[in-house]
Amino acid sequence: MTGATPITLIPGDGIGPEVTRAACRVLEATGVPLAWDIHHAGASVVEAEGTPLPSSVLDAVRTTGIALKGPITTPVGSGFRSVNVAIRKALNLYANVRPARSLEGLPRARPGVDVVVVRENTEGLYVGIEHEVVAGEAAEAIRIITRAASERVVRYAFEYARRNGRRQVTAVHKANILKITDGLFLRTAREVATDYPDIGFQDLIVDNMCMQLALQPEVYDVLVLPNLYGDIVSDLCAGLIGGLGVIPGANIGDDLAVFEPVHGSAPDIAGHDKANPIAEILTGALMLRHMGETDAAVRVEAAVAAVLADGQVVTPDLKPGRPDARVVGTQALADAIIDRVG
Ligand code: NAD
Repeated sequence: MTGATPITLIPGDGIGPEVTRAACRVLEATGVPLAWDIHHAGASVVEAEGTPLPSSVLDAVRTTGIALKGPITTPVGSGFRSVNVAIRKALNLYANVRPARSLEGLPRARPGVDVVVVRENTEGLYVGIEHEVVAGEAAEAIRIITRAASERVVRYAFEYARRNGRRQVTAVHKANILKITDGLFLRTAREVATDYPDIGFQDLIVDNMCMQLALQPEVYDVLVLPNLYGDIVSDLCAGLIGGLGVIPGANIGDDLAVFEPVHGSAPDIAGHDKANPIAEILTGALMLRHMGETDAAVRVEAAVAAVLADGQVVTPDLKPGRPDARVVGTQALADAIIDRVG
């Protein structure tokens, strides 16, 4: 397509191909010219390529600068290491941004939630260095926190807050127990905060943060956290707004960005036309914003909000509490959204 923006598309595993197909169709319906450069990674390519992450996938993202990605399976307890983590590390995508906002019509959602989780994406326990100290008896994992990585992610959180008219950044840590590692993260956050007097700053211990989010989520704005806390707290935030099926995400570096939903490959529902495509569709809207296509992004978000508020068609995860709603499949829900995008 002439003049179309090339985007690397990584469909992923499990429900990935289903939800990315739905998202691509919705994004195309906005009229923004996009040229999908499709590359495969994950369990499906291991046999043919000898690796779940062929270098051609990383090269493709380096070339286009932007990727839309579906979830990729990571075997639990054994097997290959996480492809998702490897992509973030190889491309230096240091900020994982996960906005959780209440939308009308989401069953089991809390009203008034508008929290953005900014998770450090390159270090912490996710360096994946672990070993057995005594075979079968004791094991050890190494957690790395550096000033440089803490500073750039906290700075990103403040810049994000400024750019998006946000009022407060909360740094989340466990510096009462992990005095050296989380102590360094917290000290760095406090120092960076002094450069942003226009944005409020506070810090909270991660367990208290979880309780506060459960009690009064509407109070919180932008949260910045080391890697593992960010992962866990963003799933908590997903639960607050109605589940993993509706929460988008972005992995941002200085020059490259990979957009992927918070949810995983959901092997329990893969191939059954039950996956909710909204998280991947809203992830696509984040990508449009990143490209400067704000009007198209707003139209996609408004279309999703309208279909949810309308509540006539739902994927199975959105059905509880809606006796009148008709349960439809992944592509049918995308069709309802496409009808509204125009
Ligand atoms: P998951 O997010 O895949 O699923 C958790 C639960 O939420 C399941 O019941 C699933 O059916 C449901 N769910 C998730 N997405 C949904 C959607 N779009 N619509 C409806 N229901 C949805 O988490 P998991 O089961 O812990 O992980 C499964 C696999 O995904 C693992 O291999 C894990 O490593 C991987 N994973 C990948 C990513 C990623 O690619 N970024 C993120 C998280 C997990």
